Amino acid sequence: MGSGRHVRDVEVFHTHGQYPSRAVISRSAFEHNLSKARELAGTAEVMAVIKADAYGHGAVPIAQWAIAAGVHWFGIAQLAEAMDVRREIGDGPHILALIAEPGAPFSDAIELGIDLTVSSQAALDEIARAGAENGLAARVHLEVDTGMARGGVQLDQVESIAESLADYQDDGLVEVVGLWSHLACADEPDSPVTAHQVELFEQARSLLAQAGLNPPLVHLAASAGLLWHPQTHYTMVRPGIMLYGLSPNPHVATAHELGLEPVMQLDATVVSVRDVPQGTGVSYGHTAHTATATHLATVPLGYADGIPRAASNAAPVLANGERTPIMGRVCMDQFVIEAPNVCPGDVVTLFGGAPHMPTADEWAEKSGTIGYEIVTRIGVRVPREYADDAANGRK
Ligand SMILES: *Cc1c(COP(=O)(O)O)cnc(C)c1O
Repeated sequence: MGSGRHVRDVEVFHTHGQYPSRAVISRSAFEHNLSKARELAGTAEVMAVIKADAYGHGAVPIAQWAIAAGVHWFGIAQLAEAMDVRREIGDGPHILALIAEPGAPFSDAIELGIDLTVSSQAALDEIARAGAENGLAARVHLEVDTGMARGGVQLDQVESIAESLADYQDDGLVEVVGLWSHLACADEPDSPVTAHQVELFEQARSLLAQAGLNPPLVHLAASAGLLWHPQTHYTMVRPGIMLYGLSPNPHVATAHELGLEPVMQLDATVVSVRDVPQGTGVSYGHTAHTATATHLATVPLGYADGIPRAASNAAPVLANGERTPIMGRVCMDQFVIEAPNVCPGDVVTLFGGAPHMPTADEWAEKSGTIGYEIVTRIGVRVPREYADDAANGRK
């Protein structure tokens, strides 16, 4: 948009239908997790967080499934993503952009009916100016930093920004609809940080009330808050990861223990196999050698597809009903497994939701990361297949 800078359009090499791997996204699992979230939320509104392309599951199809299930609120990180999703899903559901950089296209966002986060006085002034240009009041949610040290207005600035919000609201330039903050340690239920953040959040709320502002939407809890801290539910909750069937912290409770169903299943078609003698070095650097004469199979997914290289010699794959770890290093586009009865053309599963399958959380454990990163990083070139299995009662 006329920034004077030349930005090359990114062309994604789409090979849908021919690519040798796929992420199958289950509607029934998503709907199941959503109803769990709603049950826990009680009377609080559920904002479905669909940032990062719905954690790699595809923001637009996920939003459409959520809308069909009665969701009225979506949270997305970047304003640009929020605008793209709005153009796809149309008017109706509310969309809150959690992040907005200085100079962001606030005017277009207001016209598209995107709710905006106010995280500084400067951002508020820009948003109010954009509202004035459009002759529309921008719907805003004040973000307060209660302990993330990442985004939001610091507590000592809340009083002055509250006055400013009240003035802009009186002038018809903004409508203050929400107050929010984010918890830093909610996935460690014993941490004292959460209670402290709640206290600071309450202080911010009182300061707003003193300025005459009582926004109807007060929101603090993501999945961990929703699951483990009922005192953080307020009038709206913002679950992300649990909707995709993963636990915010499997050390506290696994997805299975929480009654969640993983939504993504990552499959690949074996491209080649070979019989090799004992002591064969496998893949770059020969970090693994075969213990016996055996049969190897090559799986066409690599770190360019988001498979962590840290999963080398560690993460499990389901091949022909058996679990077997990755053997040797993960390459850019492929890796090797030891799998006695596997043939070219057979489908192996890296992770999924069925009881015998490895999970994304197991992959995370083996790769030194979290389930969030495993699913979010599955690359754009891996086709997503939408399994509208609601009617088939997948369980
Ligand atoms: C990512 C995020 C969420 C959702 O977090 P989950 O842990 O995935 O439930 C909610 N609110 C904010 C501000 C976030 O950044």
